[in-house]
Amino acid sequence: MTQKAFASQADLEEKKVSFTKLSDNAYAYTAEGDPNTGVIVGDDAVLVLDTQATPVMAQDVIRRIREVTDKPIQYVLLTHYHAVRVLGASAYQPQQIIASQDTYDLIVERGEQDKASEIGRFPRLFRNVESVPPGLTWPTITFTGKMTLWLGKLEVQLLQLGRGHTKGDTVAWLPQQKILFSGDLVEFDATPYAGDAYFKDWPQTLDNIAALKPEKLVPGRGAALTTPEQVQAGLAGTRAFIADVYESVKSGVAAGEDLNAVYKSTYARLAPKYGQWVIFDHCMPFDVTRCYDEVTQYPDPRIWTAERDRQMWQALES
Ligand SMILES: [Zn+2]
Repeated sequence: MTQKAFASQADLEEKKVSFTKLSDNAYAYTAEGDPNTGVIVGDDAVLVLDTQATPVMAQDVIRRIREVTDKPIQYVLLTHYHAVRVLGASAYQPQQIIASQDTYDLIVERGEQDKASEIGRFPRLFRNVESVPPGLTWPTITFTGKMTLWLGKLEVQLLQLGRGHTKGDTVAWLPQQKILFSGDLVEFDATPYAGDAYFKDWPQTLDNIAALKPEKLVPGRGAALTTPEQVQAGLAGTRAFIADVYESVKSGVAAGEDLNAVYKSTYARLAPKYGQWVIFDHCMPFDVTRCYDEVTQYPDPRIWTAERDRQMWQALES
């Protein structure tokens, strides 16, 4: 095997942005598998869901928003704590930054390490990283379980439907229009990153999303899903990937294999089915390492640091 470049360091090709209208109130800023940003336009204000990685990159989202509305961008929702989703927040100058209390706790516990780790993994996604203000992005409103935001007559439910991609995952739900913004709980044609995940919980959380019967869904990565059939496909694909990693790792551990052996066999098993999804090679070492941890001795994800990232990659990919 030729040695793979660390994480996404060899991924330097710019993607094409789409700004997809799902309804008069809902838009998806997507870019061929790069991290998505959702936009909800209410009667009197705009809510942005996940910010892009830097303020300079967020300016392109603002430019798209200004093509469809001049209402003030009052709210930013952080669906979870990952740096690539939150560090562009300052560009929007929001009045409030909303996150679950669990996400807030993760920012306190591991925000600094995660920032350094993610900037090292994704050079292209942190374009103009110098525009990120010092420190972290801090929520100004936190909630537990459920919070409803009324943007005039438009009801926006912010829901924690269970753990999955992280402990703090939040989705946004427009019940009047049956449109859901899932964050990284659902991906489409893109590999789920599960380095901070709860493998045992994730499928149930996807069931809880499905129970809402969304007709349109904006995933964390990949194109906006604009029919119930596409939503089903997005949920099913994400679920199958998580279940396949978990089953493969569990059987390897049961057979007494170490992490390296489990990684090699899981990669070989999954590559034919999912290898065409973006960031497959990036995610697999992190996903299998976390799954191995969960199956063995770590109920909660261990903190990734820039150093731990490199050591893990060296151990599994050399
Ligand atoms: Zn994430």
